[in-house]
Amino acid sequence: MDTGLAGKVALVCAASRGLGKAAALGLAAEGAKVAMCARHMPTLEAAAAEIQAETGADVLAIGADVSRRSDITRLVDQTARHFGRLDILVTNSGGPKPGLFGATTESDWRDAIDLVLLSTVLLCMEAVPHMRRQGGGRIINITSISAKQPIAGLMLSNALRPAVTGFSKTLANELARDGILVNCVAPGYTRTERVIELAEATAAREGVTTDVVERRTVQNIPLGRMAEPSELADLIVFLASDRGRYVTGTTIPVDGGYLRGLM
Ligand code: NAD
Repeated sequence: MDTGLAGKVALVCAASRGLGKAAALGLAAEGAKVAMCARHMPTLEAAAAEIQAETGADVLAIGADVSRRSDITRLVDQTARHFGRLDILVTNSGGPKPGLFGATTESDWRDAIDLVLLSTVLLCMEAVPHMRRQGGGRIINITSISAKQPIAGLMLSNALRPAVTGFSKTLANELARDGILVNCVAPGYTRTERVIELAEATAAREGVTTDVVERRTVQNIPLGRMAEPSELADLIVFLASDRGRYVTGTTIPVDGGYLRGLM
């Protein structure tokens, strides 16, 4: 399949590991030039070097915290200056703090709004003028299945992922005439470093093996297993590619059938 991604410039956020790294690798493997960011420079540089070695793509590592306004401005500016354009933006960050409403403070809410919602809004604010000037672009926001169906014990995620969905849908309508397509991808349980660490911590707490914890996680997934990060990346590559040119304003789950609703 010719994706038409060769030579396109992508900025993938929160990409030193997990879903962001898989998205950066997927786009680089299709010939895109990729800028990737995370807060911890040595880990990010190692991830960038790995992707460069595996794909031969032009990869740029930029240290940035997406919950900080000044970092976002610098990140988009540095990407556009280095590569001369910006075609694809993949927004992503670490997840907000887990917990019930009763365990959250006002400062938890403000931090989560900065990390999940405002980071997405501000990245778009900085990236859209570049895309408009070029006559088009793609924005792909990594959210969660909690955008469609609340997950028990994840109050902040359940409240803020739908806000990103509403923002994206509205932005898609506003930017369609500029040739800029905006979509969300909603991962279900995916075997990233964070998910493995959480399973190991639960197993240690309960005195069971990680296999037991994992079996419990997958029992509600019709496909009977967690996703691999590359399986979300495959959808991101499609949405960024020429083949995804008529898809905008939607949220697509990659969840092995986990969500129970019709839409
Ligand atoms: P991960 O912890 O494996 O990777 C997160 C990445 O984000 C790392 O590279 C980290 O350095 C970077 N990061 C974190 N905070 C950042 C910040 N403020 N600025 C810049 N970079 C930052 O996590 P993951 O499993 O890949 O998850 C990525 C996102 O997808 C999270 O928001 C998570 O809640 C969401 N999600 C994950 C799953 C899953 O099963 N893995 C399911 C649904 C949603």
